[in-house]
Amino acid sequence: MPTIIQTENLTYAYPAEEDQKPLLALAGVDVSIEKGTFVVVLGHNGSGKSTLAKTFNGVLLPAGGKVYVEGMDTADEKLLLAIRRTVGMVFQNPDNQIVANVVEEDVAFAPENLGVPSEEIRRRVDEALAAVVRHAPHLLSGGQKQRIAIAGVLAMEPACIVLDEATAMLDPVGRREVLTTIHRLNREKGITVVLITHDNEIAAQADRVFHLKDGRIVSGQT
Ligand code: ADP
Ligand code: MG
Repeated sequence: MPTIIQTENLTYAYPAEEDQKPLLALAGVDVSIEKGTFVVVLGHNGSGKSTLAKTFNGVLLPAGGKVYVEGMDTADEKLLLAIRRTVGMVFQNPDNQIVANVVEEDVAFAPENLGVPSEEIRRRVDEALAAVVRHAPHLLSGGQKQRIAIAGVLAMEPACIVLDEATAMLDPVGRREVLTTIHRLNREKGITVVLITHDNEIAAQADRVFHLKDGRIVSGQT
C-alpha cells in the first residue's frame, strides 16, 4: 500500500533551558503511515506524541532526519502549503483554532481559502455542521468549540486528518459522535486518520497502533 506519511530517523529537540542539556522529544522515529488506514498513536504524557504530530504537517521541522508527506519533504518551504492541504490537524486546545466570530464562517474559512467552489463549501459546511451547534464561539463550551475545530478540518476533507487528543474535552456522547464521523470518513472516503489518544478501546479498532515512549517508537514500527 502507498504511504502518505513517512519519517526517517526523525529527531526533534526543544530549545534547552539555561545550563540544561537539550532533551530529545523525538529520538530517531521511523514510521510509515499507509494511505487510507486508521492509525492510533499511544504513549504516556511527555512521550512525544504531540511533537510527532506537529512534524506531520510541517508545524515543527525535524532537527535531524526526514518527514515526507506524499513524498514531499516537509523541510522544503515551497511544499509547505501543499503539505498543509494534505494533512489537516486538530489540536488539544480548540481556542488555538477558532479564528472567526461566527461559527459557520469559521467552518468555511479554510476551504474558501483553498479555492473550493462556493456550492461545494456550502455542502461541506452543512455536512460538517450537522453534528455541531450553531452559536457564536464565545458562547460555546470547550467541548462545543472542540467540535467546531474538528468540523473545520473535516470540511477541508484533507487526505489525512491528525487528531491530537482532540476529543478530550467532549462528553462521552460527543466523543462517540466525532469518532463515528471520523470512522465514516476513513471508510467511505479513504481519508487517512492518525488519532492520538489514551483510549485503549479506540486503539483496539485501529489498523495499526504506534506506541511512543521517551521519543521512540517501542511497538508498531514497520
Ligand atoms: P505528549 O504529547 O506525548 O504528551 P509532547 O510531544 O508534548 O508529549 O512532549 C514531549 C517532550 O517534549 C516532553 O518532555 C515535553 O516536556 C517536551 N516539550 C513539549 N513541548 C515543549 C515546548 N514547547 N518547550 C519545551 N519542551 C517541550
Ligand atoms: Mg500531547
